[in-house]
Amino acid sequence: MGTFSDKRSISLKSLFTPSPPSDAIQGSSNRRQRVLLKPTDLFHPLSKSPIKEMREKGLLIQQHGCCATCVEETAKAGKPAATREPHFECPDCGYPTHCSETHWAEDRGHSKELCGYLREANEDEHDLRSGRTLREFEFPSAQLPEIVVNLSNWDSFLYTRSFTNINSNRAMRHVSKVLTYPVTMGATIHQYSPFTLKNGLTPEGLKSMTALRTTIKEHDLARSEKELVMQQMPLRVFVLGARAEAMLPPHLYLQLAYLLPNSPIHVYFVGPECIPSADEARSTIVVSTRLVLKYHKSYFHDAIWNFAPFDPFTDVFFMFSPGIGHPKARSGWQPTVEKLLETKCAVFATGFHERDMQTDVKALNEDFGDKMDWLLEPRENPFASLKRDFGIRNLREWAISNWGIYGFRGKRYEVQSKQ
Ligand SMILES: [Zn+2]
Ligand SMILES: [Zn+2]
Repeated sequence: MGTFSDKRSISLKSLFTPSPPSDAIQGSSNRRQRVLLKPTDLFHPLSKSPIKEMREKGLLIQQHGCCATCVEETAKAGKPAATREPHFECPDCGYPTHCSETHWAEDRGHSKELCGYLREANEDEHDLRSGRTLREFEFPSAQLPEIVVNLSNWDSFLYTRSFTNINSNRAMRHVSKVLTYPVTMGATIHQYSPFTLKNGLTPEGLKSMTALRTTIKEHDLARSEKELVMQQMPLRVFVLGARAEAMLPPHLYLQLAYLLPNSPIHVYFVGPECIPSADEARSTIVVSTRLVLKYHKSYFHDAIWNFAPFDPFTDVFFMFSPGIGHPKARSGWQPTVEKLLETKCAVFATGFHERDMQTDVKALNEDFGDKMDWLLEPRENPFASLKRDFGIRNLREWAISNWGIYGFRGKRYEVQSKQ
């Protein structure tokens, strides 16, 4: 099926070409960009799109995609699922969805829900390439200390963090697709995290988070004492199996730093496919006085000695849609998970949708159940991307970045005192 690789091949590049937000921020000096599409003119069948990339995408789907009706018909007939190429473009969503108009008309499931999501994706993708200035990517900077950020959901986060340029659902979808990474990390660690004992956090989870928050508190207390600041151990946030999230513009991770304004933070992107965004030759990017991004192009279990020793008070791990339970990836992840459990640090991971997440959780339970404690019960992530991504091969397979989240940690064999 290859769903794993399909899922993971989703590119964030489209968000930053042809009009990257940095250009937008630099403003009107860049006159080369011309507005190609008006906000009222965003829907185009892919084959007739004025944007070359969109026409190419349509062709790719026609070559590699499938017709849902064909697949169902052959499967029903007891034959291996087969399909003709989807040359027919649905007039409502503009995607090449079926082999013929007849097969399109027979597919009730398409018109019922999928078509609406595809239509939204069509307009969103055209909007990103419309040539307009993408003001929603002009993000606010540091928070005033007296303003308390609300991390219950996107709406309250964006409001309390003064994201004033986001004024439509479409803009929110664009922004959430990239902000989901730094904000999911920040919201999980933060003292006002949406994950509490009443919302998924286990007693073991509370212990782990209290350790990290003790360090953050110390950073807060030390902020005015110059000498203390020098002695501080940074918070180390490891992102394992990093792909798209390592390629985001580094300044996006300032949104994590702003959530923990007094903490020095080192983010380590580790993974065989990890490429630093701005400059491939550099392995360290200093984003601000308190935020440093480091890139290690290797497996965590091979590179572990670069990072040891580990301390649950300063170190936390994230794995964004790792696919730990996917047949093709499972054995590859095992040595990494084994090392992770030995660190006794908190590990959080996300999934693309319910099934993806549950597959990973099941594999973890089967492979490491007796060696680990759950910190956060699997659940929907309030800071998931608001955008659906569709696989080229099968438009019925959609994914949402960081749809769900869960947390675990190596078991601590401490002597329990009896009450
Ligand atoms: Zn067909
Ligand atoms: Zn449609």
